[in-house]
Amino acid sequence: MEATKAMLARIEAVEPQIGSFITVTHGQALADAEAADRRIASGEMTFLTGIPLAIKDIFLTEGIRTTCGSRMLDNFIPPYSATSWEKLHSHGAVLLGKLNQDEFAMGSSNESSAFGVCRNPWDRTCIPGGSSGGSAAAVAARQATATLGTDTGGSIRQPASHCGCVGLKPTYGRVSRYGVIAYASSLDQVGPLTRDVTDSAIMLGALAGHDPKDSTSVATPVPDYCAALTGTVKGLRIGLPKEYFIAGLDPDVQKTMDAAIETYRRLDAEFVDISLPHTDYAVATYYLIATAEASSNLARYDGVRFGHRAEDAAGLLDMYTRSRSQGFGAEVKRRIMLGTYALSSGYYDAYYVKAQKVRTLIMQDFMRAFGDVDVILTPVAPTPAFKIGEKSDDPLQMYLSDIFTIPVNLAGTCAMSVPAGFSAAGLPIGLQLIGKPFDEETILRAAHAFEQATEWHTRKAVI
Ligand code: GLN
Repeated sequence: MEATKAMLARIEAVEPQIGSFITVTHGQALADAEAADRRIASGEMTFLTGIPLAIKDIFLTEGIRTTCGSRMLDNFIPPYSATSWEKLHSHGAVLLGKLNQDEFAMGSSNESSAFGVCRNPWDRTCIPGGSSGGSAAAVAARQATATLGTDTGGSIRQPASHCGCVGLKPTYGRVSRYGVIAYASSLDQVGPLTRDVTDSAIMLGALAGHDPKDSTSVATPVPDYCAALTGTVKGLRIGLPKEYFIAGLDPDVQKTMDAAIETYRRLDAEFVDISLPHTDYAVATYYLIATAEASSNLARYDGVRFGHRAEDAAGLLDMYTRSRSQGFGAEVKRRIMLGTYALSSGYYDAYYVKAQKVRTLIMQDFMRAFGDVDVILTPVAPTPAFKIGEKSDDPLQMYLSDIFTIPVNLAGTCAMSVPAGFSAAGLPIGLQLIGKPFDEETILRAAHAFEQATEWHTRKAVI
């Protein structure tokens, strides 16, 4: 109860400057905290009992408004909850609220949210990253102990990097997506944003596992992720893909990567130069597949069963058109149009089928590399957090912020972002560790060893 009350007070104090929440669930938080106290008193607790968490507004929560950052779902109150949240709740975790995000998780800056700007706690003139911007900002601003996000092309790792927290995108199939509003179903994955690697391991342990309600979740056993945090990376083979360390990389990011490599060398890890030759095609491939899937997933928002319905319609078709025109923002409309075009007959083979083939090549690049190395180390994003408004009129520049995270989603494997330093201007910079499918243990171990050897994760944003 004390922890929950302290967090609610903190949210109230700093929220006007940050904007990480769409809904604060004050009453629910107090009720959860009371239940947790009873559980603790009876001795039936786990690491998560009574821990105040907040979740991206893409996760359905029974009886609590869930907007996905969109006007379309302004009034949507789901009749059931996402499995991932239910799992955390079953441990006695406390729900503080629902977090700000890009509309339908489409974006890299949180600027496409219909519910106002979210600011980077390290510099309030900068974006927190996206699409799980609120999830990262809330951890950095100490408004929640940990949060949940989703990652389709980088939406956990990129905001984690920009806000100086740990962000983990598990392997496709590792965590249930039941009750998570779908963006691009062959890429979406749920994961935690936390202050440090141990918290990430605890959260993943609670989240992972097969869910009969999600046919894409996989029934491989869930290991004890905390036991993987041995503190040593001696002999670990780390691959450095030449396509990710390109000339023109932001100098602060380059410096941070050089220092991280040096740290791992001191810890007796071994480095191997590798190549992921199809990297150049990843962004184009992603924006065909993700938009195609989005155009299909978003067809359900027609103003009939739930969500926004236009009032002034002349007939059914007019009602669909008006509801969708009013409910969706500009970026979502752009994606629906791109996706519909890529799937239309006559273009399907040239765009969608071609993109699927290139996706296979990208996946094979990773599998080949993992024949030789245990982990791959890269930057998370090409630059530190940029200014609010800097890229909002230039979708292509915005899309390029995910150049280093997107290939991982296309390959379906796991990766995480770990605080690794700061830019000259004082903005956090993360490093990315990519692991083999279902080998979250090794990236957690590598991240933990790095964290033990550095103090980046102990720095706090001053607000
Ligand atoms: N920025 C990427 C996009 O807009 C990734 C988003 C995500 O991972 N949800 O598609």
